[in-house]
Amino acid sequence: MTQTQHASRHLIIGGGSMGLAAADALVRAGAESIQVLDAHCPPHSHGAHHGETRLIRLAYGEGSGYVGLAEQAWAGWQQLEQETGASLLLPCGVINMGPSDVPFIQQVQASAREYGLPLTVLAGDTARRRFPGWQINTDWTAAVEHRAGVLWVERIVAAWRARIERARHVTLTTNASVIALEPLQGGGATAVCADGRRFTAERVLLAAGQHIEPLLTPLGIHVPLTRVRKTFAWFDADARYQPDCFPGFSLTDPERGIYYGFPDLNGAGFKMGRHDQGQTVQPGVPLAPFGGHDEDMAELQQVIDRYLPGVGALRHGAVCQYIRTPDEHFLIDEVMPGLVMAGGFSGHGFKFACALGDTLADWLHTGTRAGSLAGFTLSRAACQPRAGRE
Ligand SMILES: Cc1cc2nc3c(=O)[nH]c(=O)nc-3n(C[C@H](O)[C@H](O)[C@H](O)COP(=O)(O)OP(=O)(O)OC[C@H]3O[C@@H](n4cnc5c(N)ncnc54)[C@H](O)[C@@H]3O)c2cc1C
Repeated sequence: MTQTQHASRHLIIGGGSMGLAAADALVRAGAESIQVLDAHCPPHSHGAHHGETRLIRLAYGEGSGYVGLAEQAWAGWQQLEQETGASLLLPCGVINMGPSDVPFIQQVQASAREYGLPLTVLAGDTARRRFPGWQINTDWTAAVEHRAGVLWVERIVAAWRARIERARHVTLTTNASVIALEPLQGGGATAVCADGRRFTAERVLLAAGQHIEPLLTPLGIHVPLTRVRKTFAWFDADARYQPDCFPGFSLTDPERGIYYGFPDLNGAGFKMGRHDQGQTVQPGVPLAPFGGHDEDMAELQQVIDRYLPGVGALRHGAVCQYIRTPDEHFLIDEVMPGLVMAGGFSGHGFKFACALGDTLADWLHTGTRAGSLAGFTLSRAACQPRAGRE
């Protein structure tokens, strides 16, 4: 076993969505001496950034506190497209559907009002005529956001990686699995890898998804993160599911659950997944493949049968993971001097990655946390140990 010791000013543990976004932003900010470690070889399918596509919505149903960050991210994705020449964002719109009294649907409208975002609110029967791929309940509400759409997730991660590998002052080390953190007296930490390599820095970003919790617990830092197995699948679909007439969507059905999905992009098929529920799995434990649980297919099929008349046979499915917090808001905090963690993205973080990357890079570089992250602290009530939990 090697015991090589590496030192840098900035160390990023986890070179996935948030880690590479932050590394890219540090490079652009002119930071020197940046080391990124990843347990795999990003983009890959061992974390939360695979499956081709992610939705981006600005009229945010999870709370208007996210809208500023979403606006910043929308501009950031456009800039990344311009700079790389790659097609990364498809502005095909997103339609949010459900009964009008569902809190998510009400919050989408409230966020749009508060921030002056363009949003078209349709009754269910009008939405059925406008979007023939949908047969939603006529008494539901459909809130259509045109400045919204689809991000190509693996292309983006690959674009960041390519830029980082061309840059000076930054090293991405793949297949480097961090198994322990040792805090330094003056701030920062040493990351110990499974093969014995050690990486030390004064400013550390821990963005290691499922392994944030097991890396922090031995330091006496308890983060309420739950790893959840999530599935999604692609299906045959007719012409009603092309992106020019079928936007991305969220659907909240009080009986069937919360779902999201995508038009048939480049012939890949109609794609859908369930946002709520899922199976809790401990960090490091392999996820059962799609079809490993009876509900994997059944829960998607019940929504297709009820609402999607032109969607046909299953093509293939996949599994991924959410790292959930108790309130499903992000967890981004300086948990020890010089050690910032960014996790708990609860299945809705990717759309913000470029904006969060800028903000995290600034925090690492200057030592000052941006006000936009104030709602994501570990000290908030929802993240405190509940009586009887510990
Ligand atoms: C099915 C599904 C659908 C989603 N849909 C959307 C959506 O529509 N819109 C949206 O905005 N978001 C969505 N999300 C959420 C979004 O993809 C995640 O919030 C985001 O990718 C999380 O970024 P991350 O950097 O925390 O994780 P990742 O991108 O997984 O990065 C973590 C990295 O850490 C590395 N790592 C882990 N452990 C270690 C270790 N011990 N040592 C070194 N490296 C380590 C991993 O290899 C990985 O590369 C979805 C997620 C899933 C699973």
